[in-house]
Amino acid sequence: MEIKITETTTPSELHAEDTLGFGKVFTDHMFVMDYEEGKGWFDARIVPFQNISLHPASTVLHYGAEIFEGLKAYRRADGGVQLFRPLENIRRMNRSAERMCLPEIEESVMLEILETFVRHEERFVPKSFGTSLYLRPFTFGNDESLGVHAVKRATFMLIASPSGSYYKEGINPVSIMIESEDVRTVRGGTGYAKCGGNYAASTRAGEKAAKKGYSQVLWLDGVERKYIEEVGAMNVMFKIDGEIVTPVLTGSILPGITRKSCIEVLRSLGYTVNERLLSVEELVSAMESGKLEEAWGCGTAAVVSPIGKLAYGDKDYVIGGGKIGAVTQKLYDILTGIQWGKKEDTFGWVYKL
Ligand SMILES: *Cc1c(COP(=O)(O)O)cnc(C)c1O
Repeated sequence: MEIKITETTTPSELHAEDTLGFGKVFTDHMFVMDYEEGKGWFDARIVPFQNISLHPASTVLHYGAEIFEGLKAYRRADGGVQLFRPLENIRRMNRSAERMCLPEIEESVMLEILETFVRHEERFVPKSFGTSLYLRPFTFGNDESLGVHAVKRATFMLIASPSGSYYKEGINPVSIMIESEDVRTVRGGTGYAKCGGNYAASTRAGEKAAKKGYSQVLWLDGVERKYIEEVGAMNVMFKIDGEIVTPVLTGSILPGITRKSCIEVLRSLGYTVNERLLSVEELVSAMESGKLEEAWGCGTAAVVSPIGKLAYGDKDYVIGGGKIGAVTQKLYDILTGIQWGKKEDTFGWVYKL
């Protein structure tokens, strides 16, 4: 594939690595390509990072035709740069595209785009452990008409944000509120797709939780409001009486790559991991009997995020004495070890650039 490159005339200075937050600063360039029905993808280009201009009737602005991905480029101790299971993100983005009637991108093409762009922006990949260059590919519908139908025009973009360590102040367990009114999505809906609309619909519950002093919500299923689904925008896992349980992918849960990796790491260590339905009653009774040993969220941003307190109704339950548990810590050490190239990757997950 031919990618036309226009270099910025005003290269920026790198920010100090300990001042990087998440998603606030961007690299000097962005990747863009356009799509038209009948013509396919065209005009692949790397251009200076800049605002984009959209027709006021553009589909994305009215009907929310948008999907995205999130992955990181990691700096290894030897100075090289690597991705973590990028094909998983590429395949998931295509499944999201299929659900939202947006055009898919061939796997080899998308991999080439990621590789070429990260190489081009390599100087922005920070060096300290825990920091990374966060990559955000996204596709949106861009028809210049208010008609409601599958789009005929779309745009794909890739932007990158040098991001700080998620755990600058150490791994502190979070307080979570079980949400029993709003739901994130329903079976048959768009839960398994990474689309902006799911986030828009989740914001209200997150704000409500924040007002009450919790950092996120634990979602229940949208049909019966009975089964545990996810925590905020992360998948969730529990250790109950020795068994590791994570909600089975029913279609309304986002199939996380960190979730999948946690399951594979745990099984390789000999743990029993069950992907099954887990009701809120079962969880509450495990908390009341002291059988809930650990709970954690998992996703690319945090890797794992221990849950130290869970609220249901007007009751707060403390989990594992409010401290990170042994299994959560082990997962964190193994996954970050592989991602930042400090541990041998026996799974074949890293993709060196
Ligand atoms: C992205 C995302 C996750 C985590 O997926 P990873 O591939 O592990 O980053 C979980 N839940 C939701 C809703 C998400 O959008």
